[in-house]
Amino acid sequence: MQDNFRHKGLRKQLVTLLKEKGITDVTVLAAIEKIPRHLFLDTAFVEFAYNDVAFPIGAGQTISQPFTVAFQTQLLQIKKNDKVLEIGTGSGYQTSVLCELGARVFSIERQKTLFQKTKILLTELHYTPRLFFGDGYLGQPSFAPFNKIIVTAGAPFIPPALTEQLAINGKLIIPVGEGESQIMTEITKDNSGKLTQKTYGEFKFVPLLEEKAN
Ligand code: SAH
Repeated sequence: MQDNFRHKGLRKQLVTLLKEKGITDVTVLAAIEKIPRHLFLDTAFVEFAYNDVAFPIGAGQTISQPFTVAFQTQLLQIKKNDKVLEIGTGSGYQTSVLCELGARVFSIERQKTLFQKTKILLTELHYTPRLFFGDGYLGQPSFAPFNKIIVTAGAPFIPPALTEQLAINGKLIIPVGEGESQIMTEITKDNSGKLTQKTYGEFKFVPLLEEKAN
């Protein structure tokens, strides 16, 4: 797997663009500058890997746009050793960003083919998240609670299991909406267990679907 000077140069340009678009968290920008995003795409799209757009990753799914990955990650305010649950492993790119930030990552994917393919790639890249083939609507109760939860597909509603599995002072970032676009939503749980909701504008995601698919 190749990561050459050209790829590195393109990543620097991408980081400059993300800064212009309002991403300020230097740890998030450093992770994006480091991770070879082109390795997460089908070879046919490698030329475009560092454009700020989403791409197909097979099984009818997409790798999120870099700005969206940066925006959601910035909202999460990851601290080293945070226990983080990701719903929608997909290509594993967002997973890698979370790993780079020092999080202990648990990630769920409902499509078997993507789950298997991404498991191999992340191992090759020496990232060590715990990957699960399952239904993200249910979260991962046996490993709860999580300091942070990120959903990377558009959810028609906020799955109750996810707010239940959120730790005290935890944060859930989830795009909510059933149509063409979703509203980026942040749910925080205070130390009495009370949930507070805040929204951050429109984004476009593939839908969060129920149950596993082989
Ligand atoms: N984080 C990914 C984004 C992939 S798109 C990346 O960086 O590439 C969203 C992913 O969510 C798809 O792979 C899709 O198969 C998965 N997904 C959809 N519904 C799901 C569910 N209920 N549980 C787990 N994963 C789901």
